[in-house]
Amino acid sequence: MQALLNREERGKMIAEKPNQIVRQSKRRYRVISQSGHGTYDVARTKAIAVGWICTCPDFTYREVKCKHIWAVEFSLKLREVVKPRVIEPIDVHACVYCKSKSLVKWGIRHNKYGDIQKFSCKACGRYFTINLGFERMKHSPQGITTAMQLYFSGESLRNTAKSLQLIGVEVSHKTVYCWIRKYVEVMGKYLDQIKPQVSDTWRADEMWLKIKGNPKYLYALLDDETRYWIAKEVAGDKFSHEAPEYASRLFQQGKEVAGKKPLTLITDGLHAYHLAYKREFYAHQKPVTKHVEHIAWQKDKGNQKMEAFNGTVRSREKVMRSLKREDSPILDGYRIFHNHMRPHMALGGKTPAELAGIEIKGENKWLTLIQNASKHRMFRP
Ligand SMILES: [Zn+2]
Ligand SMILES: [Zn+2]
Repeated sequence: MQALLNREERGKMIAEKPNQIVRQSKRRYRVISQSGHGTYDVARTKAIAVGWICTCPDFTYREVKCKHIWAVEFSLKLREVVKPRVIEPIDVHACVYCKSKSLVKWGIRHNKYGDIQKFSCKACGRYFTINLGFERMKHSPQGITTAMQLYFSGESLRNTAKSLQLIGVEVSHKTVYCWIRKYVEVMGKYLDQIKPQVSDTWRADEMWLKIKGNPKYLYALLDDETRYWIAKEVAGDKFSHEAPEYASRLFQQGKEVAGKKPLTLITDGLHAYHLAYKREFYAHQKPVTKHVEHIAWQKDKGNQKMEAFNGTVRSREKVMRSLKREDSPILDGYRIFHNHMRPHMALGGKTPAELAGIEIKGENKWLTLIQNASKHRMFRP
């Protein structure tokens, strides 16, 4: 069957299969041999006439443009096609459904804390309020999004409520918690359907948390290149017999979120990861995911990467006591904050999500995200 296809077609097939091409540098790629033995190196040469060279027999002896070179060319084209997903602020002067600007004011909805203008769209005939995403909320979008920014950047629930008083928002710390729960869920469901473009090297680690007075372990899976926090799982004890179950679930989620397996998995050598790796990532066929186990005393670059991540969550131990359940929306909120809101110095001031092709625009990213998520929810059948 394969013989009927020419090199170009076979190259295209390689490029479309997951995990066949590993980028070594801008000019060097490693392509997995389709016969299942080894890899070939495809490199861009400086000689104009040749362009690419490959270490496979086809290229070496026949001097033709082999399927590996075709595959690299196709994959580079595919990469270009993966445009960053940009989440734009929603223009409240246009219809939220059809973007028409011919709107008619359609009465005012009153509540204790202010008025909400209702509109009717002349173009599509639908009604909406400009309070998209914050309907039936007593407080302003600014107050609510400020609360989330304060809380996730390190304030306790009580301090967040106190700080809000300074800008005229009178709320209890319980209300702040309710806002966080509600909006983390709204944002999470929306973000779940956007796939991050993560690299082929992932890192797993766990950290100790205290939830409602009980010690717990948060297992986290991060992309090594973008530091995108791919998946999380909360477990009771990292040495218990259930630990491999939690680790397996972490890796399953990772595959779902990224739509692929990593080529390299780096862990700290915890036995649970090894078992979970065998279950979820190991395969007899190419490509085989490599498992690199770091011993704890090795203070390498990788550990620093995890430490930057720990800064997101670990400093929050105090606040974690107020968590109601293990699978708290608060942890999902940290994931959103880590991936989409907090610029990382080590990433040149960008967020992990931006490097993974998801960019949220606007001065208030929480607002942009909540409004887009709410709009998306309205359109869902
Ligand atoms: Zn080749
Ligand atoms: Zn309309």
